[in-house]
Amino acid sequence: MAQFQKQIRRIGVFTSGGDAPGMNAAIRAVVRVGIAQKLEVYGIHAGYLGMLENNIQPLQLRDMANIIQRGGTVLKTARSTEFMKPEGREKAAQNLRAAGIDALVCIGGDGSFRGAHALWEEQQIPAVGVPGTIDNDIFGSDKTIGFDTAVNTALDAIDRIRDTAASHDRLFIVEVMGRNSGFIASHVGLAGGAEEIFTPEGNTTVEKAVDRIKDAISRGKTSSILITAEGQKPGRAYDLADAIRKKSGMDAKVCILGHQQRGGSPTAADRILASRMGAAAVDALLKGYCDIMIGTEGERLVQVPLDLVAKHERKTQIDLLSLANILAT
Ligand code: ADP
Repeated sequence: MAQFQKQIRRIGVFTSGGDAPGMNAAIRAVVRVGIAQKLEVYGIHAGYLGMLENNIQPLQLRDMANIIQRGGTVLKTARSTEFMKPEGREKAAQNLRAAGIDALVCIGGDGSFRGAHALWEEQQIPAVGVPGTIDNDIFGSDKTIGFDTAVNTALDAIDRIRDTAASHDRLFIVEVMGRNSGFIASHVGLAGGAEEIFTPEGNTTVEKAVDRIKDAISRGKTSSILITAEGQKPGRAYDLADAIRKKSGMDAKVCILGHQQRGGSPTAADRILASRMGAAAVDALLKGYCDIMIGTEGERLVQVPLDLVAKHERKTQIDLLSLANILAT
């Protein structure tokens, strides 16, 4: 874990990469804890893009009114290719220094943390990361901000689909988000009673799913739900429906949940997580710690070096998938 000596007076907060419900609660916590600790807090608009475009403004306590319940991010988010280059990061650091920003809180995913790590290594701008992504795929944290909300949004949709699937004796394939990560699929599948769950890690096959559905039919089940994480591009559910039709003659209806999983009012769990993590990020900076992410280990908050977060992947828990299979009999 890195440490810096400078006494901080002014910090910047930004959201970066994919948005997630609960980011606003994290921003609110950073601003209000920061101000309570006699810091000045500046908001950087649209992540690294705003750093490069000098879009940096002071935030006051009242600017944070009425946002804890809102999805998305009031600071906006963006992706920046210019920041991926050392010259871009040098320009960003110059802008931060000119604005008198001593340290940063970066709310985002692993890409954003790679950026924050590089900014510390190359430009000595201290930053603490707060994991905000619906995918829950950040190494070093059991939970990320937005995951609980996304799972509950998808689950709500699946419960509705189950009503129509049961009424018409249908097979449904529901596609949830998670291009490289099966966390949403596995949690939604277990909580939604899915017959089979397809994750990007490739834990099952069309053959297994067909056998499982046939088995369920032989035991008197009249409708089934399969969950799949999206593939490299959305629409994997259609490919699966085709493959199932070819293999078994069974007709499957497809429902792609898409971006609705990214929005909506954050759950209580996400608001609490975001509030705790935002506050912990400011506390860490005040103690002179940087180049770390605030994560969770069970209920406990932990500090994880950003280079460790960047180097490792976090994979879906296989035990949840096998439990879902057993319970869906
Ligand atoms: P997320 O933070 O949700 O994983 P991205 O991977 O798109 O989202 O990263 C967000 C931004 O972080 C990128 O647009 C880029 O500006 C910056 N970034 C990502 N990876 C790196 C990297 N290896 N080095 C420097 N900056 C990076």
